[in-house]
Amino acid sequence: MDIRKFQKQIEAIYFAKDNARGVAGTFMWFAEEVGELSRALRRKNDDELKGEFADVLAWLSTLASIAGIDLEEAAVAKYGKGCPRCAKTPCACAEPKKPTGGAV
Ligand SMILES: [Zn+2]
Repeated sequence: MDIRKFQKQIEAIYFAKDNARGVAGTFMWFAEEVGELSRALRRKNDDELKGEFADVLAWLSTLASIAGIDLEEAAVAKYGKGCPRCAKTPCACAEPKKPTGGAV
């Protein structure tokens, strides 16, 4: 399943509910899931990690849908040709001061 198909799948399951809740309320759920992912990363339980990564991706995807953003188009436009700053793959930029995980 590619990014666009995943976003369509999440829309089919949740868009009506999530869109009615709106961006602000849905963002709160997304942030909650990011917190759960953080705790799962510390515990290092593979089954739990898979579930939390899937949840964060699903909430990110539904937020994009509510905001009218095609996640695949956005991701490819920004990262499809390598690092957006140095245009290299792998990135050749100096290490950033804050922990961005490599993304810009
Ligand atoms: Zn770079």
